[in-house]
Amino acid sequence: MVQVTKFIWMNGKFVKWNDAKVHITTHALHYGSAVFEGIRSYNTDRGAALFRLDDHLGRLFYSAKALGIKIKFTENEIKDVIKKLLKMNNLENAYVRPLAYHGYGSIGVYPDNVTSEIAIIAVPDYIKDTKRLRLATSSYVRPSDKSTAFGAKISGNYANSILAMKAAREKGYDEALMVGSDGFVAEGPAENLFVIKNKVLTTPSSRSALYGFTRDTLLKISKDINIKSKEKRLTLNEVKNSDEAFFCGTGKEISPIISIDNHKIGNGKAGKITSQLKDLYFDIARGRNKKYSKWLTYV
Ligand code: PMP
Repeated sequence: MVQVTKFIWMNGKFVKWNDAKVHITTHALHYGSAVFEGIRSYNTDRGAALFRLDDHLGRLFYSAKALGIKIKFTENEIKDVIKKLLKMNNLENAYVRPLAYHGYGSIGVYPDNVTSEIAIIAVPDYIKDTKRLRLATSSYVRPSDKSTAFGAKISGNYANSILAMKAAREKGYDEALMVGSDGFVAEGPAENLFVIKNKVLTTPSSRSALYGFTRDTLLKISKDINIKSKEKRLTLNEVKNSDEAFFCGTGKEISPIISIDNHKIGNGKAGKITSQLKDLYFDIARGRNKKYSKWLTYV
């Protein structure tokens, strides 16, 4: 259940949680014509800090452009709104959800004469523990850049994720592992995948996976614990036969994968390198590692 906060920002105004409403003909409700981000803020010695905020806002504007949604605010204005919203809701460890969408004006598929809307929600950290995941390979193929806009975080794309997760949950698994139309492993329903084999960290180089910032962070920081990293096309067999595997993303952070289709990964426990990467990631996100302070925006 989502945790209620005091305020939500909609189209330039802070409104009370219960007043943040949309009309039933809202285009995005019918066709998934919305774009969104998930951003984390963490408590640090200097108060709350947002992790990789500029990157997330860059992707929000890129996604909106891809779908023809006009954001009537600058990135800097949105940044200030997010900081203010966290303060107004008394949040430090939080999850921030900007959402831009095609609004009112038409119920046809093409968003002709439809308003562009934007809202920002901030809720307390909603994932408490990083779970050890048991995955099922999905029979739903991950859309590639030939079926959707590459790198855009478009709400409609998540119907594919929901279907894959629903099938996995109905079979008693935690999450789905998605394969791309090229037959190579792509990612999870809302997270990127990494595997570790012989102390090398590898993530799929797939046009079917989102260019995640947690993924990017890990590719850059792994050398600090003497682990080489690379992007490579990965087969399902390679993933299943890795020493360690994990999902990563802003929401999921770093979650160890302990089995795929009931095939144990490594020794079936959270891996050692996965845990080291997780510690390093949290040190950075919580402002305890000066080397990467450029990724933090203090509230
Ligand atoms: N893939 C998908 C499909 C996602 O929705 C997300 C979450 N945004 C990710 C990967 C991870 O991206 P990030 O690390 O930027 O949150």
